[in-house]
Amino acid sequence: MEMANYYCKHCGQRFSSVNGLTAQTCPRHPDGNHRGRHELYEGDEKSQYTCKYCGQRFSSISGLTAQTCPRHPNGNHKGRHSPAL
Ligand SMILES: [Zn+2]
Ligand SMILES: [Zn+2]
Repeated sequence: MEMANYYCKHCGQRFSSVNGLTAQTCPRHPDGNHRGRHELYEGDEKSQYTCKYCGQRFSSISGLTAQTCPRHPNGNHKGRHSPAL
């Protein structure tokens, strides 16, 4: 089974190839706005995505990563939710 869509795990942007995904910088990169490239989310496409730190559920990776996480390993709201695989 081949995945048709590739998502960035930091911002949820969708790409048709990994090559296209990693060619661009990411507005929600953990090092800062466009301080690094998009990184591939290696899990499956789902109807709901769960934050691996706090368990909150979202309908999209972009919705999940838009908010900071109360249980982020760097501290309370010191980083964004991160999708579980
Ligand atoms: Zn990104
Ligand atoms: Zn979270």
